[in-house]
Amino acid sequence: MTQTFLCSQCCQSYPINDCTKFNGKNYCPDCLRELTSVCAICGARVPEDDAYLYMGRTLCVSCFRQRSHSGIY
Ligand SMILES: [Zn+2]
Ligand SMILES: [Zn+2]
Repeated sequence: MTQTFLCSQCCQSYPINDCTKFNGKNYCPDCLRELTSVCAICGARVPEDDAYLYMGRTLCVSCFRQRSHSGIY
C-alpha cells in the first residue's frame, strides 16, 4: 500500500515520494514546477512571483541583487 498525500494546489492525491513541501504546503511535482522556480546560482526554491530572469537564468531575489549590482555575468 503506497502512502499518498493531497496536493494543496490541484487537490489530487499522489505518492508521498512525489511530495514537496513549500511554504508549509504539500505540492505535487507538476504544481511545484508551475508555482516555483529554482535559483540557477544558489539552488533555492522560490515562488514564481519572486523569481527573476537574468541573462537567461532564473535567480532568486538575493542572487539577482548580487549579480545586478556587481556587474558580473
Ligand atoms: Zn498538484
Ligand atoms: Zn539564489
